[in-house]
Amino acid sequence: MPHLELKNIEKKYSSGSDAVKGISFSAEQGEFIVLVGPSGCGKSTTLRMIAGLEEATGGDILIDGKRVNDLPPKDRNIAMVFQNYALYPHLSVFENIAFPLSIRKERKEVVDQEVRKAAALLSITHLLDRKPKELSGGERQRVAVGRAIIRKPAVFLFDEPLSNLDAALRTEMRAELKNLQRRLGTTMVYVTHDQTEAMTMGDKIVVLSNGLIEQFGSPHEIYSKPKSTFVARFLGSPAMNLIRGELSQSNGRAIFFAPSFELELGSVAADAGKQVLLGIRPEAFSVTGSANPTGKSEIRGLLSLTERLGSATNYYMESSLSLDGRMTASAQSVMGSEEYEIGSEIIFRISHGDVHLFDPENGLRIA
Ligand code: ADP
Repeated sequence: MPHLELKNIEKKYSSGSDAVKGISFSAEQGEFIVLVGPSGCGKSTTLRMIAGLEEATGGDILIDGKRVNDLPPKDRNIAMVFQNYALYPHLSVFENIAFPLSIRKERKEVVDQEVRKAAALLSITHLLDRKPKELSGGERQRVAVGRAIIRKPAVFLFDEPLSNLDAALRTEMRAELKNLQRRLGTTMVYVTHDQTEAMTMGDKIVVLSNGLIEQFGSPHEIYSKPKSTFVARFLGSPAMNLIRGELSQSNGRAIFFAPSFELELGSVAADAGKQVLLGIRPEAFSVTGSANPTGKSEIRGLLSLTERLGSATNYYMESSLSLDGRMTASAQSVMGSEEYEIGSEIIFRISHGDVHLFDPENGLRIA
């Protein structure tokens, strides 16, 4: 039996907005589930329905097989951490962390012991006497997490907890939260709009768009076999390139044709003449200055922008082949590798990794 299960959950706000249109997914005990998608797709609403802060207008929410839709938040054994942490400004760090136990009228020795245990786990023991305003953003974040873990809930719900932190701290806290969750073994549902957080933290990812699930799977599944162009473009940075073209068959092998570009695909279960979108991840390209003799599986164009990230470099080329008018390649930076001038002609060559095919009508993956 899954630990947490959502069955066809819906939310229609009284304003008439259809925020969540019937979503289903489940989490095993101790799993880290990330809900990811663009702003307004229904992530927070879903999380708030699990917490009981919003009433589901349809469907069932089950914890250990028991329907909890009608239980008030305090009886669901769930702890939530919000984006703004919601710490009590007039209470010390100790009192903030202790709060859930204090309102349960827990014995003073127990409270003291549990607060110190949580503080040690989060490396904030030295801050216990401070007030929230005397803390950095990262420290406040840890206090909010401390207040969640002290309740020993069945499920943690985190709503964009890292979005107020600077980039370096976000990377550090990402690893820290993931480690902490693993050590505690508590089931987690974590909301973010950041695809890097989703990929690095989730055991499973729920990709949401417009109140519906686009795909539910492991980061690897979602990255290597995106079910739709939406998922393909949302996960991965820079985003996947999409080229409009047509399939033909030759000696049992499919060939993708576009103006000035063709690529042999191997066996594909799609009719010759079918219009398709070919998806190529930027890291599947190598970048070169000289064409090969046939030049057919290469994309030639003018370099419009280079982004040096240190370990890798992104190259952008204006190209009418691509749906959005430009192609991107992301190549490992190698010492002494060739530098290209903006405006010079360069060539993208598919050198590794899989390509993807999608139906241009509905955006769905073609097997
Ligand atoms: P996300 O967390 O993915 O950004 P939300 O769950 O906050 O998205 O919102 C989903 C949709 O529901 C949006 O269109 C939003 O405008 C709408 N919405 C959210 N909260 C309310 C509310 N309290 N009343 C009416 N509509 C809401």
